[in-house]
Amino acid sequence: MNTPVPPRRRFLIQAALATVALPIAMRLIPEAGAAGLTRLPLDNPQAKALGYVEDASTTKHPSYKSGSMCSGCQFFTAATGTCSLFAGFSVSPKGWCSAWAKKAA
Ligand code: SF4
Repeated sequence: MNTPVPPRRRFLIQAALATVALPIAMRLIPEAGAAGLTRLPLDNPQAKALGYVEDASTTKHPSYKSGSMCSGCQFFTAATGTCSLFAGFSVSPKGWCSAWAKKAA
């Protein structure tokens, strides 16, 4: 015979499950920017043309300057994780492409 779970105990069980399930769910959801946009695919023709990489330290592009990355680029919007050159996508703050231009101070 099933005895009903008291509301307080049910709440504690649900809170414990949520604490465990939320981090797992976050790992299963595909990476998306702060605006909920799809991350710019590396095979996007414009991204390829500009040599976009998700980790600036990995690029071998001749115009790369050490320390430059999307987060310091004038085309990057930190609040949304977007780049004005790649509408409809988010980019990695640690990314880089050859259109990088230093953000005004
Ligand atoms: Fe990143 Fe700037 Fe290139 Fe956009 S233009 S992808 S923000 S380096």
